[in-house]
Amino acid sequence: MTYSEVANRLRVAGIENYDGEARMLIEHVCASSPLTDGEYESEALVLAVDKRCSGYPLQYILGKWWLARCEFFVDESCLIPRADTECVIEEAVKLLPPGARFADLCAGSGCIAISILDLRRDTEADAFELYPKTLELACRNAAHNHVESRFCGIAGDVNDECLLGLKKYSAIVSNPPYIRRDVVPTLAKDVHFEPVAALDGGIDGLDFYRAIVRNFAKNLDEGGAFIFEIGYDQAKDIEKIALDGGFSCRIKRDLGGNDRVAILTRRNCNC
Ligand code: GLN
Repeated sequence: MTYSEVANRLRVAGIENYDGEARMLIEHVCASSPLTDGEYESEALVLAVDKRCSGYPLQYILGKWWLARCEFFVDESCLIPRADTECVIEEAVKLLPPGARFADLCAGSGCIAISILDLRRDTEADAFELYPKTLELACRNAAHNHVESRFCGIAGDVNDECLLGLKKYSAIVSNPPYIRRDVVPTLAKDVHFEPVAALDGGIDGLDFYRAIVRNFAKNLDEGGAFIFEIGYDQAKDIEKIALDGGFSCRIKRDLGGNDRVAILTRRNCNC
């Protein structure tokens, strides 16, 4: 197949960034920069193009993806890092006090904790993840980005109120599953290849926020904050969960102008 044939097949399959994706697929599979008139005799390339045309995510085919300043290994055991998540990272980087220890709950590929550790070399993180295979991936990602000495991966469920023990953190960050259960089947085709456990936030999409605020408020330092990624339409609901738990809530928007981050601090605190 030539470069233009690859790009054309992707375009016909409805892939928006067909040019860029053709380039990335050829580079990945053939380990060569795509030449406009080059012919690639590669069975693996045909298979990769077929796979991509069927809606399988580019990121899983490449086995890696990028967020903030880091490169992450990704596979079907984790959610694909999304640019929206950069605003969670940005808020944490701004808010964490010098030398802070923070927790990342539902860590997935580890992209949030690792990006923060990369940008704030004075901090340390405990990253909690339910699925052992995903946790292993997060630990590989920590090593790949040279932050493993400040990253501790821990297996466990955020529904377990003892998960964090007696530890105290300056911040607890999380991008938990937050899609309403009835919306999950209606998501774009490629999202169906991502782990449903990383998407499904229960009937109203809010199960994880409720569990995290209820179970782990005790694990925040006095001036500490929860920093959550939220769905574009969840600000009001999160404000309510915050108030019920004794927290006030600030909402930040992403680059697309959608509500995307909720920052919860104790109501009796002037920070
Ligand atoms: N925290 C991970 C991420 O941002 C995983 C999120 C999830 O599994 N819902 O990609």
